[in-house]
Amino acid sequence: KLTFFSAGSYELFEKQAPNVQKEIKKEFTIIEEPNDKAIKKSKKLGYLPTKSKTASVNENRGDFLPSTTQMAIDYLSSRSTNGFFLKVEGARIDKSAHNNDYSAVVREVLDFDKAVEAAIRFAEKDGNTLVIISADHETGALALRDGNIKEGKMKAMFVSKGHTPIMVPLFAYGPQSKLFGGVQENSDVSNKILQLLAK
Ligand SMILES: [Zn+2]
Repeated sequence: KLTFFSAGSYELFEKQAPNVQKEIKKEFTIIEEPNDKAIKKSKKLGYLPTKSKTASVNENRGDFLPSTTQMAIDYLSSRSTNGFFLKVEGARIDKSAHNNDYSAVVREVLDFDKAVEAAIRFAEKDGNTLVIISADHETGALALRDGNIKEGKMKAMFVSKGHTPIMVPLFAYGPQSKLFGGVQENSDVSNKILQLLAK
């Protein structure tokens, strides 16, 4: 059962059927910008930024992804006595790669990296949190060549506009992180998470 969610925009939420909106509002306090009172007092929270929408970093999304990751960590960790599960997606990396847009891919990855930083910093302090970072697939078959460390330059080339079967990185930090080493099926990642949650 969800305790916190954030995505899209309030404009999109208002386009949902009235009964859907009503059902969600019955359970969740919905905020359109960070709101200390709602964050402190609500039992369940939905954060739907009015302006951020699902813009890319290049379209001035700002720090929405890392700051909302931090908000979610604070919200969930202060409410649970038995831990929590949080999933954060940097969905615009994929969209930018479909467009073969080098600058957007780099900026989206750097923005996602800040969200990872928020999670790792919490895990370091908490000492009992597992952070797993991966992707559901590669997009664009991005090839890098002619790298020059001195000049800080390299050449990049997209070979495709679609999803590819290229293997993706899988990083894990914290307790049980050894389970996520080596080469594995992507479905094994979710199966292992479920096994760990059942313990
Ligand atoms: Zn895609």
